[in-house]
Amino acid sequence: MRKVLLVATLFLLTIASACGGDDASTPADNMPATPTSGAPAEQSTSFTFVVIPDTQYYMAKPELSATFAAQTQWIVDSRDSLNIAFVSHVGDIVEHIDQVEQEWIDAGKYMAILDDNGIKNNVVAGNHDASAEGVATMFDKYFPAGRYEKFDWYGGYMGEDASLDPANRGNMNNYELFSAGGLDVIVLHLEPDIPDDVLAWAGRILKENPNRRAIISTHAFLTPANDRPTAAAFRSDGTAAEAVWEQLIKPNCNVFLVVNGHYPGEGRRTDTNACGDPVHQVLQDYQFRANGGDGWLRYLTFKPDENKIYVYTYSPTRKDGAGDFETDADSQFTLDYDMQSE
Ligand SMILES: [Zn+2]
Repeated sequence: MRKVLLVATLFLLTIASACGGDDASTPADNMPATPTSGAPAEQSTSFTFVVIPDTQYYMAKPELSATFAAQTQWIVDSRDSLNIAFVSHVGDIVEHIDQVEQEWIDAGKYMAILDDNGIKNNVVAGNHDASAEGVATMFDKYFPAGRYEKFDWYGGYMGEDASLDPANRGNMNNYELFSAGGLDVIVLHLEPDIPDDVLAWAGRILKENPNRRAIISTHAFLTPANDRPTAAAFRSDGTAAEAVWEQLIKPNCNVFLVVNGHYPGEGRRTDTNACGDPVHQVLQDYQFRANGGDGWLRYLTFKPDENKIYVYTYSPTRKDGAGDFETDADSQFTLDYDMQSE
């Protein structure tokens, strides 16, 4: 397996303090190009993974709804400059679970901006998308497996083979495949609190794809205090994030990245898995910012020839739609990751 690399590197402290933290408008000088000035020559090697954090407050207020659409439209508009390979929504797509169908109609339409433009993507359910009992009627209606099965990059979902997985909660647990920058990647989206049957399914999918580098997207995992809760957050049949780490992530050494939302704020930590390789865990949730989140999202640009992942916090709606970067050390940073080894 891969050699141990350095843990996540902080190198923007000076810049963050110089510009007063949050609202600086341009990336730091030592970060790669911004979307508007992306260098096409680099596209053959670098690629970008986009995380859409909790959109629930945009969906709860009709006057904020357009922010979600602006996010996915920006992704489409930036696909070439950033070589966007995949987009993951980390859940709390809507605010009111099954109560307000219009929220789902809108969210389904805004994510379809990605579908319709051939951008690989999927979503995970949050605690505002599914009940504590795991009921997700509207999620099932607007984000069913059938929405994605027409795409060749959609891997499947838990329950599609009843002989292997008796439970079938549709697209609540799904996976996708993509290749970019010379890397073969699998992305798993796992439902809130990851019950035992999901742990078993996800573990099997990871073992069936040992040569794919794995990203796990789930709604609640890391907190802004950079810890993993030791109790399930929502469900009586749920698994605590710390137990998910021990049972699923640590022993499956192809997992190198976990992304989540839910806990308002930002966080990250890096731990070593059973093979001695680093696993980066990154939290982003801007729902308590102005305007239900002010359009903030995350994108991770992988540079295989540098063995680095450059993480950006960006809003396409701020500054009257001109866009804005948040460049403090919590928001813009690099992760070391060996992309050369097999
Ligand atoms: Zn949540």
